[in-house]
Amino acid sequence: MLSPAGEIFTGTDQRAPLRDALIRHGQMSAAQTAGRLLPMACVSLEITQRCNLDCSLCYLSSRAEAARDVPLPILLDRIGMIHSHYGPGTSIQISGGDPTLRSVGDLEALCRHIKSLGMRSCLMTNGIRATRAMLERLAAAGLNDLALHVDLTQERKGYATEADLHDLRRTYIERARGLDIRILFNTTVFDGNFHELPELVRFFRQNAADIDFISFQMQADTGRGVLRERDGTITQASVMRAIRDGAGIELDFDAISVGHSDCNRYTSVLSAGSATTSPLSNRRLIADVVSALEKIDARERGNLDAGRLLMRLALRNPVLGLRAIAEAGRWLWRLRGGLLAGRGRVHRMGILVHNFMDETKLDRARCESCVFMVMTAGGPLSMCVHNAQRDSHIFAPVRVKTAEGATWWNAETGFRDGPSKPEAKPLPLKRLKGRQRAEAALARRP
Ligand code: SF4
Repeated sequence: MLSPAGEIFTGTDQRAPLRDALIRHGQMSAAQTAGRLLPMACVSLEITQRCNLDCSLCYLSSRAEAARDVPLPILLDRIGMIHSHYGPGTSIQISGGDPTLRSVGDLEALCRHIKSLGMRSCLMTNGIRATRAMLERLAAAGLNDLALHVDLTQERKGYATEADLHDLRRTYIERARGLDIRILFNTTVFDGNFHELPELVRFFRQNAADIDFISFQMQADTGRGVLRERDGTITQASVMRAIRDGAGIELDFDAISVGHSDCNRYTSVLSAGSATTSPLSNRRLIADVVSALEKIDARERGNLDAGRLLMRLALRNPVLGLRAIAEAGRWLWRLRGGLLAGRGRVHRMGILVHNFMDETKLDRARCESCVFMVMTAGGPLSMCVHNAQRDSHIFAPVRVKTAEGATWWNAETGFRDGPSKPEAKPLPLKRLKGRQRAEAALARRP
C-alpha cells in the first residue's frame, strides 16, 4: 500500500497512512475526521480525458484531447486497487474530462462494480449529456451521487452571470428528481464570480430540499485553462465570509476538519422552509461524536443513515445519546418558524471550500495530508500532485493481464506489444483547447 506521498505502507489499519501524515503535520485535532472515520475522503477515477466544454480554469493538460479513453477492464482493475487501499465506504468520483462522453453501458458497469465492493460512486459531470434516461439507468446500476459542475468558467453561451445559470441548475435538478441519487453542485470560484457567491449560496439554500452538498473550488494555476493564478481577493477567509453572507447565519468552519486546514474547510446548514441554522455550533459535542464514531466499523457506518447511526451511538453511549438528542432539540427550536410554516421537513446541506494548489507551488505537508486522491496505474496520488504531473500519468504505459499472458496499453496508441512510450504528436487546430487554442487564435489574427 502507498501513502499519499507515495511511500510504501505495510500496516493493516487503512486509515493509518493519512492519520500519521496529519499528526506529522500538526493537523490532528478532536475535530479531525480524516484518517479517523475513513482512510480517504474520496478518490477520483478519470475515465476519459475528453470534454465537451473548454473551461477557463480546466485542470486537464494541453495534450488531453490526444488521449484515448481508458479501456473498461483497466478501470475495473483500478476500482479494485481503490478498494484494496481504502476499503469499503470509500467514495469514488467517476470523472474525466466529462465521463458522460463514455457509453452508458461503461458507466453502468463502473457503478455496479463500485457498489459490489461496498463503495460509493459519484458521477462528476457538467450535466450537458446527463439526460434523465441516462440517470435512470445509472441509478438502477447503483450510482449514489451526481456532482454537477455549473459556473461561469465554462463560458456556456447565453449566460453572463451566475444568477443567469440558476435556470440551468434547476433543469439539472429536475432531471434527477425522484431517483435515489444525492445531488451535489461544484462551483469554481474566480475573479469573474466571486462577487456573486452570496447570491449563489442563497440559491443553493433555497433549493436545499434537493441539494445535499455544495463545493466551492478556488481558482488555481494548474492545467490548460486560459486563466492562471487568482489575485489576493480570493482567500479561504474571504470565500467563507461570502458563504456566511449568503447563508445569513453564523457558520463554524472549524467544528469539523476534513484533512489539512489549508486545503479544506467544511461546514453544514440545516433548513426548514425559510429557516436556517447551523448543526455545528457545539464543538465539544461534535468532537465526542467523532470519537465515538471512530470506534464503529467503517462498513457498519456506511450502511446506516444519520438517524440510525445516532440511534446506534445512543445505545452504545447513552449519555452521549442524550446530549445529541438535546442538541437536536435546539436545532428544531431554532427552525420552528420554518417547520410550522412548511411541511415539517429538515434538510441538511454540506458546504466545502476546497483550495487547490498552483502546479508550481506544491506544499509537501499538504500533499502528504491529501484527502482527495486520483487513482493512477501506479497507485493513488494527491489530486494536486497529479494535476502538476498529468501527462506523465495519463500517457504512462499500463501492463494489462490477458488470457495469453500480458499486453500493454497506452493512452496515445492503444494496445501494443511493448511498454514503449509514444512520442507526443502535435494536435490538429480543431482539437486544441485552453491556452493552446487561445494562442493559435492569436497567431491567426492578421
Ligand atoms: S487535492 Fe490538493 S488541495 Fe485538495 S486536499 Fe489534496 S493536496 Fe489539498
